[in-house]
Amino acid sequence: MAAKGWFILKLLMFQGLFISRPQEDFDFFYFVLQWPGASCDTNRPCCYPTSGKPAADFGIHGLWPNYNDGSFPSNCNPDSQFDRSQISDLVSSLKQNWPTLACPSNEGFKFWEHEWEKHGTCSESVMDQHEYFENALKLKDKADLLQILTNSGINPDDGFYNLKKISNAIEDAIGFTPGIECNKDSERNNQLDQIYICVDTSGTEFIECPVLPRGRCPTRVQFPKF
Ligand code: AMP
Repeated sequence: MAAKGWFILKLLMFQGLFISRPQEDFDFFYFVLQWPGASCDTNRPCCYPTSGKPAADFGIHGLWPNYNDGSFPSNCNPDSQFDRSQISDLVSSLKQNWPTLACPSNEGFKFWEHEWEKHGTCSESVMDQHEYFENALKLKDKADLLQILTNSGINPDDGFYNLKKISNAIEDAIGFTPGIECNKDSERNNQLDQIYICVDTSGTEFIECPVLPRGRCPTRVQFPKF
């Protein structure tokens, strides 16, 4: 083949690479789980979902595309609206594992819609809406945080625990350092609120965090009852 022909062929192959494998437009995900006890004992209102009080377990907050410098994209595609018909097979699992605590009490679709539109639409280069929610549910199965903590004697009993001990228990179990975020209860006690685990751009594998969130936790934190 003449040199020009080779050039055109290579150009087409090069373009094909980009057409079949869109580049990710983010660096990693934060998979964020929240302790409902810490969402519901602050000065802000909390309402149980219409299905009743959630299980005393960590619930999913979201799967958030992030950049290595700590910033993140948001609301990336207004044309990709949340469509509940695409996740109908996941709804019962979402109610159990991704419970809304917003007021007024509702089923949860508003929370899932918010998470999809703010965060999920920024990972559409790698997963569609069904995959976004399915991946988050699978990640929660992979990291049973409550089990991990209770195995290390860290229980949601209103006790105060060493932050490093909490972090080490999770790291020993999943192999990577988590981010830990605290908030304050209505008596101003610092308490365990959210746990961040980093995930690769496929949304399936835990990784070491390129950057940890600023967690606002002192050395000892309360693990409130729920
Ligand atoms: P995000 O916008 O994804 O960063 O999450 C923050 C928003 O999610 C805030 O408006 C929170 O009030 C809301 N939020 C956090 N946890 C829950 C929950 N369990 N149910 C409903 N809304 C929540």
